[in-house]
Amino acid sequence: MTLAQYCSQFQKIRRANGTAFSDLTLKKAPHKPLLLLAVLDMVGRKQITSPFISIADEMTELNALFGSFWHKLMPVTHTSSIGFPFSKMGNEPFWHLVPLPDKTVTKELIDKMSTVSQLRQHVMGAQLDEALFVLMQDAQSRETLIDTLIGTHFSPEAQALLRAEMGEQDTIFQYSLELEQQAQHKVRDSSSVAKYTVQVRDQGFRKAVVRCYDHRCAMCGTRIVTPEGYTAVDAAHIEPWSVSQNDQITNGMALCKLCHWAFDTGVVGVRTDFSIAVARQIGHMPNAPGFIPTLAGRTLILPKEVHLRPKPENFEWHRKTFSVA
Ligand SMILES: [Zn+2]
Repeated sequence: MTLAQYCSQFQKIRRANGTAFSDLTLKKAPHKPLLLLAVLDMVGRKQITSPFISIADEMTELNALFGSFWHKLMPVTHTSSIGFPFSKMGNEPFWHLVPLPDKTVTKELIDKMSTVSQLRQHVMGAQLDEALFVLMQDAQSRETLIDTLIGTHFSPEAQALLRAEMGEQDTIFQYSLELEQQAQHKVRDSSSVAKYTVQVRDQGFRKAVVRCYDHRCAMCGTRIVTPEGYTAVDAAHIEPWSVSQNDQITNGMALCKLCHWAFDTGVVGVRTDFSIAVARQIGHMPNAPGFIPTLAGRTLILPKEVHLRPKPENFEWHRKTFSVA
């Protein structure tokens, strides 16, 4: 199959009509083209490196991209699981759902599945046509495929919104890579600060830190990634950005919401040996501090790679400010 033939298939993608869909998406469901745009972006960044898209490994990033495109076009009240288009795309000629051993994928099953949890009971992922994947890897062909999807399935206004969002997401990804490279080479390039917007810095820092900590809270160890790819952790600055302007991974930790709040408010602190200290007064009635007191004396759970771990001196501001540790 040629590029022209795949462009033709992309133009013919079947999309449901619905009153929920506005002029932006030409009054049709945008799920499938948005998922394909996310896949194309990930192939371009070499985050997808084979024609097989696993619903275990690639879902967090794919869901984040799909969600960022979706929210540009759809009202906040209208949500969608990425499992819906991932499954329905199985009816398109270039997207082949790969069943788990001893399972089969039928049209009835494709029509029935709409969440990633349901998908995981039946399939391992999706296999793209080999020829399509080769085209997706080539920058020029990829651009043609993106142009076709955006030009066919969205209004001019939506096209501009999607283009802008794709550019923004690409910059966020590049910033997160820069932070990892700076950690690798133990350098700090302060020029990044002026180069990027607040949103890019926030999201790029988050992406890099969450990836380095593999979604695990450095304090309590909570690691939850939902089937859809949502993670329980934030990226916390150790010395706050407002004080340090320091987005280095060595000034970050992945923390769950409660541990993040506890750290930012000085309810917990970190000693020079990376052990955790807990403020005594939080146990006073009528507080019910949950698991927080159990963190006392525990050691932070840090990345295996030494160069990604926090610099001990980055905790000094926190120690001086809160006097917990
Ligand atoms: Zn936690």
